[in-house]
Order: sequence, then C-alpha cells, then structure tokens
Amino acid sequence: MTGKLIVVSNRIPGKTSSGGLVVALQDAISSNGGIWIGAHADPGEPDDTLEELGTEPYRRLAFHLSAEELENYYLGFANSVLWPLCHRRGDLVQLRAEYERDYLAVNRRVARMVAQVAEPDDLIWIHDYHFLPLAEELRKLHLSNRMGFFLHIPFPSLADLSVLPDPDAFAHWLAQYNLLGLQTSADVARCLEMFRSDQRAEFMPNGSVKFDQNVVAVRSFPIGIDVDKLIHEAETEGPSPFGREEPEEFIIGVDRLDYSKGIPNRFRAFGEYLDSRPPDRRPCLVQIAPPSRERVKAYRDITFELEEIAGRLNGEHAALDWTPIRYIHRSVERSRLARLYRRARACLVTSLADGMNLVAKEYIAAQDPEDPGVLILSRFAGAAEDMQDALLVNPYDTGEIARAIAQALDMPLAERQRRYRGCMAAVRDTDVSQWSKSFLAALRRCTPTLVVRNGARGSATPDAGPDQRAHSGDIYAE
Ligand code: UDP
Repeated sequence: MTGKLIVVSNRIPGKTSSGGLVVALQDAISSNGGIWIGAHADPGEPDDTLEELGTEPYRRLAFHLSAEELENYYLGFANSVLWPLCHRRGDLVQLRAEYERDYLAVNRRVARMVAQVAEPDDLIWIHDYHFLPLAEELRKLHLSNRMGFFLHIPFPSLADLSVLPDPDAFAHWLAQYNLLGLQTSADVARCLEMFRSDQRAEFMPNGSVKFDQNVVAVRSFPIGIDVDKLIHEAETEGPSPFGREEPEEFIIGVDRLDYSKGIPNRFRAFGEYLDSRPPDRRPCLVQIAPPSRERVKAYRDITFELEEIAGRLNGEHAALDWTPIRYIHRSVERSRLARLYRRARACLVTSLADGMNLVAKEYIAAQDPEDPGVLILSRFAGAAEDMQDALLVNPYDTGEIARAIAQALDMPLAERQRRYRGCMAAVRDTDVSQWSKSFLAALRRCTPTLVVRNGARGSATPDAGPDQRAHSGDIYAE
C-alpha cells in the first residue's frame, strides 16, 4: 500500500482553483491525506516554516520566498535562464552567479520542508523547471521515496544545455528521480540524447537510464484538458462575450504574453492575409494576451513590439466600422474563453516552442461538431505531435501562416468536420484525468531508490555527510 501523494509545484492552487493540473490531481491528492506544497503568493521570511493554507479538499502548505529569492530564483534562474533555454532562446539567457546560487538554495530549503512532512511510503511528484534539483536535495537528506518529475515545458537540446554555467548538472539533477515525465516523444528523444552523450549514464535493457546507482525511467505523458468541462462551458448558452460588439467573422489567439508564443509573427501573418484577402472579407483577429512576468525585460520588450505592430496594422487596414486586430492585454476567465472559442472560425497557435499548448486542445474541444472551426497550429507546439489534423504551420514563415488563414476561412464543411474529428480524438485521448492517472501508475511501479548510509538503509534524518545511493532490481517495466 502506498502512502500519501505529495505534490510540489512553484504555484500552489487557491482554495477554489479549477486549473487543469489541479483538477487532474484532485482525486489522487485528496485520498490518503495528500499534500500540495508551493510558494506563498506574498514574499516573507525565507525560513523552513510551511504555512498551512487550508486542509480541504487536501492540505495546502506554502513556503515564503524572500524578495531577493523571488528576484534570483524565480525571475532569475527559473525564468531568465531555464525558460529561455528550454524555449530555444539562448540569446535571452541572463547568466548571473546570484541566480544560480539562490535557485540551488531555494531547492535545498524546499527539500528540508518536504522532508518534514514526507513519510517513507509517500509518492512525491515534483513539477516543472523551478525544481529540477529537488530530488537530488531530497536524496541528500536520505529520502528514498519514489519521486517523479514532470517537465511542462520543452526538453532542451544538447546545444541549448551547453549555455548553462554547469551543463553536466542538468543530467545529474534529473537522474535522481525514479520517473521523468515529458510532454512528447520528441522531448523524450532529446532527453535520451542528453543521457547518451553523458559518460556517467548507462542504458538498461528496458530503456531506463542508470546513473550514479540510481535508475530513472523516461517517458512521455502528453498533458491535456478536462474535456467534458470545457465542452460544457462552451455549450452553455449566454449573451455574446462581445456584448453588442461581436465581429461578423473572427479568428482567435489566446496566449500569456510570452516571446515563445510567436505573437508578433502571427500579427504580421494576419497583416499579410489582409493584404491579399478578397475585398468583401473583413475578419478580425481577436488576440487575448494577458501580461506575464513583466519584471523581466524580454517580456516588456515583446509587449512594446506587439503594441507597435497592432497599432500599425490597424492604422493601415481599419475602417470606421472595422478594427482588424482586437488586442486585449488582459486575462479572460476560461468559461468565457470557451464561448469565444466556439464562435471563432479559426484559432491561431503560432508558438516558436511550446511544451504542449492547452489552448489548441481547448479550442478543438469547444467546437460545434456540426460546424467546427479550424485550428492553425505551429509544428513546434507539443500539441502538434498528436494533432496532425490541424493545419500545421511553420511559425517562422508568415507567408505560410497567411495562406493557412485563407485556407481555414474558406475551408469546406466536410474538411472542417474531418479535421475536427481527428483533432478531437487526440484531445480525448489525452484528457487530463488520464494523464495524472497514468503518470502516478507508472511512478507506483518504480522501485524506490535505496538510499544507503553507513551501510544501513537510509532514513529521512538530515545529515550533511556524504551518502551513497544504490538501486535494487528493475525499476520500471511497462
Ligand atoms: N488562459 C486563461 N485566460 C486567459 C489566457 C489563458 O484562462 O486570459 C488559460 C488558457 O485557457 C489555458 C492556459 O491559460 O488553459 C494557457 O495554457 P497553455 O498551455 O496554452 O500555455 P502556457 O501559458 O501554460 O504556456
């Protein structure tokens, strides 16, 4: 019998959060007294105290980050080093010694707090690039629990990794988990390439990787959405989300304002489409782009760039009764988004790199099967691996996107229905409840890491001394 589930992610859900990850984990975490640990929304004392935020439907425990840690660990190493590196933007990486120092320090501190609440049979599921070294820090504290890690963003290539101050550390961090979950098989291929090029790694007959006596299984678990909920939201009758300003025909884009989403190219492509469109056609591009990480310069730069392009294109093309680009720099709640998706003739996802892209799946789930809209999807979004029936585009090629817009708006009903059915099958196959179940089932099948200390099986007692790790038996067999 396994113990409770402990989830660690940078962002901790609120009492009533209904995001995909929260919904996906709700059942697993609510049974057996599970715990979700994450960073408090407010900065505070960087000590080892976990603040109880609530106990229903599961315990939520928060640690505080100091203002300096927020700067160096979160905005710094996580979002100005790892994020651009994993999204193939090595040019935006900001290397500073204090970023790496605080990233490691926060991981060390969080490990001590996880160790306070973890019992030997507990499963520990760690999420995303904020906590790559967390398993290593937990193993140093002699925790032998099964530990899984899921990377929500793209796995970097070897060339990208070489930008890190200590590229070898990346493989070492990841090798301390028992199960490494990635979004797509292309991510798995890049991860295995990293291990293959590392002399410390050895491949087991079942494909798992042995590294420093630990064995880690690497598998893709494409994340999805709560499909039925999205369908319900999209079908709910109500006044138009536009009020009296509903455009006759519109294409939708929904993205956090992030340079990885390729929004400038999308705007330019829409401009190219407008140049070539039939004169009687006056579609709108409705772009919802809530602000994100505005204290990082690269994010401020992209905000200015978008405002400039939208202003220029509207200046060139607008009429008294038509604004071609409606750019909304605010967030819209998902139930309203679902109704917007359903009304949109097409959805533009033009990410230059993207772990999955849930908007693509939400758009498809929201469509009317009898009269569906068309998804235009970047080849570089993880979602493209399964959604081959979308209109796939190279997001760097604005001409290709412009042609895809024309094709989508003119597409015959039968082709729209065929493409919708293909995409919807992929959306159903990756429903988020299935995602968490299959990850946790795979993690449960892993043999826990045997932490050996002074010849005895390790305990969770903190000890700064060196430890050895051994692993017994086959760790993972499908
Ligand atoms: N989203 C939202 N309101 C907005 C913009 C986005 O609720 O104004 C949601 C969107 O519905 C989706 C998520 O934010 O569920 C974005 O996920 P995605 O995987 O597309 O991109 P990420 O932001 O995680 O890189």
